[in-house]
Amino acid sequence: MSSDSSSTRYYEILGVSKNASPDDLKKAYKKAAILNHPDKGGDVEKFKELAQAYEVLSDPEKREIYDEHGEEGLKQGMPGCSSRSNPFDIFESFFFGNPFVGGSSRGRRHRRGEDVIHPLQVSLEEVYTGASKKLTLMRSVICSSCKAKGSKSGLSSRCASCQGSGTKVTIRQLGPGMIQQMQHMCSDCSGAGEVIKEKDKCSECKGSKVVQDKKMLEVHVEKGMQHGQKITFPGEADECPDAITGDVIFILQEKEHSKFKRKGDDLFTEHKLTLVEALCGFQFVLTQLDGRQLLIKSAPGEIIKPGQFKAVNDEGMPQHQRPFVKGRLYIQFSVDFPEPRALNPDMLKTLESVLPPRPALQLTQVELDECEEATLHDVNIDEEMKSKHQQQREAYDDDDDPSAGHRVQCAQQ
Ligand SMILES: [Zn+2]
Ligand SMILES: [Zn+2]
Repeated sequence: MSSDSSSTRYYEILGVSKNASPDDLKKAYKKAAILNHPDKGGDVEKFKELAQAYEVLSDPEKREIYDEHGEEGLKQGMPGCSSRSNPFDIFESFFFGNPFVGGSSRGRRHRRGEDVIHPLQVSLEEVYTGASKKLTLMRSVICSSCKAKGSKSGLSSRCASCQGSGTKVTIRQLGPGMIQQMQHMCSDCSGAGEVIKEKDKCSECKGSKVVQDKKMLEVHVEKGMQHGQKITFPGEADECPDAITGDVIFILQEKEHSKFKRKGDDLFTEHKLTLVEALCGFQFVLTQLDGRQLLIKSAPGEIIKPGQFKAVNDEGMPQHQRPFVKGRLYIQFSVDFPEPRALNPDMLKTLESVLPPRPALQLTQVELDECEEATLHDVNIDEEMKSKHQQQREAYDDDDDPSAGHRVQCAQQ
């Protein structure tokens, strides 16, 4: 299954013989990777190939498979390895891997750039019908004038002081046979690994390699999308010469609606009925989120109780990606009773004659005479409970541990 050429290519890429020692491989990779690093104007494809070849050949197990069965053998034998690795990571772990890498600025380069996250306000109408929104964002893009070199001449000048690594290592003798190695950022190039002469700096980007650009993105809010759902534009975040561009991510923020509340794919609304409507039937028009007018009416003879729910099928929210499937629309009814003394005794008699009879008192007259008569007062229960709660809090602040109340105040600031 293997031909000779398929198990020699990696050696050729690194420019070593098939029996190269691990040390030979290391040296070869080091030299070639620095020479071909995209940072230094090298070819990205070549750089990737080098990393791939080195990754395989530096691992004795992989090298054996490769020698035996070539690249095909690696793909079959070691799922998820070889070509999947980020060439920059291999480069970094080679040069900065141990023990210095830590959180240095150097360690983050070549990784994925930051994602840019924007909240996106949408109305319930927009997620019901679907909508598209055009948004203009400012972003950094690679300077096209100097092609990310930062210089007019096109030369990227490697920092002489750190040989382009952006870092310097100092060795300190701590005692006999004990040395301390310390890595720090190169001060001559501020860790960039290169210095562009003032005169040679690109006039477009002033040597920064990126320029600001306006970008218009059209965000398609699909029917039935949920609050908090993400819409991603891959690779539309700020470009940076050493990083894979991150994504622009919009996170939907569903605005509250004055009439409808959404729970998943269902909609909830409230409707107030008069007592006559609740007892004798009703009909009313409800404007749906897409503007359609729904005629809602009671069944003949139906009586609606205060707080009762009814549901309309298929008038909830459309399901995301299955917009023809819709949830239910729940309507909760409240009943507006007549004002006190709105009915005179004659009306009440008429009412009583048609309504089901009131329950009879299960007491004899004698027993009734023995009862104490209680008086009912009008109350505004919400107000009363609020003021009682307030009184309790004040009492607590005054009498109890005085610092407790103080602590609460501090925490609220
Ligand atoms: Zn430029
Ligand atoms: Zn430097």
